[in-house]
Amino acid sequence: MTYTSGRILGSMCTSSHPLARRVYCDFLESNLGDPGLFRGTRELESGVIGMLGELLSEPDAAGHIITGGTEANLMAMRAARNMAGAEKPEIIVPKSAHFSFRKAADILGLRLREAELDQDYRVDVESVRKLISENTVAVVGVAGTTELGRIDPVEELSEICLDEDIHLHIDAAFGGFIIPFLRETGAELPEFDFKLQGVSSITVDPHKMGLAPIPSGCILFRDASYLDAMSIETPYLTEKQQSTIVGTRTGASAAATWAIMKHMGREGYRKLALRVMGVTRRLRDGLVELDYQLVVEPELNIVAFNHPAMGPHELADRLEELGWAVSVSSCPPAIRVVLMPHIMEEHIELLLRDLEGIRLR
Ligand code: PLP
Repeated sequence: MTYTSGRILGSMCTSSHPLARRVYCDFLESNLGDPGLFRGTRELESGVIGMLGELLSEPDAAGHIITGGTEANLMAMRAARNMAGAEKPEIIVPKSAHFSFRKAADILGLRLREAELDQDYRVDVESVRKLISENTVAVVGVAGTTELGRIDPVEELSEICLDEDIHLHIDAAFGGFIIPFLRETGAELPEFDFKLQGVSSITVDPHKMGLAPIPSGCILFRDASYLDAMSIETPYLTEKQQSTIVGTRTGASAAATWAIMKHMGREGYRKLALRVMGVTRRLRDGLVELDYQLVVEPELNIVAFNHPAMGPHELADRLEELGWAVSVSSCPPAIRVVLMPHIMEEHIELLLRDLEGIRLR
């Protein structure tokens, strides 16, 4: 499968920009695990952290470019655990959280407590409140859930975490590169970033809506003390302390991400955000015309829907037979289409034609 075919409908990755690919290749040998040898690459990494910090309302944020959302969430949970020093550490995540938190809990020895969702598939704040105990080291909110693109009530989570002095981590792996730009164009989407004083860390993935080549994830902390809380001495390298999980790690991701962010600028990402939301609306309207049932009104560029009579797995099989790669969400079960930049309006017209054929059969 290729992204450019427009047939990949269920992925959060997309075709990377040709400029980013070229830069990536130029930096293949650079190693950010030993940054004294690759000072320019380290500067590019700091440049990306600075640009993302500014975008997310904390220009002095500290962090790293790593492999993606999974590693970023793992680092955030590790920092929260180390800073809290609880004897039996627990984390509270929404039921809609990405499965990477299960991995983090397993690796870090954390008990995972799952908070309920409200009827709009956002985390239920009262359920979070009830799960808080003296062992809670982190609460997680999601800005752009993997299955439905929902944005949790981060403002309320921030208030709770400030009151209780608990680390609030926001998983904006998907939403981080679209919500701020849609807000800049006037969309009424909730606050989710460091402007809210309770937010301690944010995951944002340039390899999703940022157009950077895989792998490029970013973990941002409000300040460098969170990195210090997990730093390990590295006696024989050019830096004396290391906070990342991986040792030797490519600098190509940082360089390519820097290049694409400079190239696009906020204006470029704003235009992209508006374009994908236009395609999202076209799919939404076409589905309603064909009497397919929407799970929720799309807030971001994800549409989840069901056939009125056929189960989602059967519908997914039918679509696969017609050459579409779709995915099925679990909560609730539905066909889930992520309108990534590689999906153009003409692809959606073809998809709607096939969905009409399935309805008429
Ligand atoms: N967090 C969210 C909200 C995601 O949607 C994803 C992936 O889709 C991840 C984390 C994990 O990202 P990755 O697959 O880049 O590790």
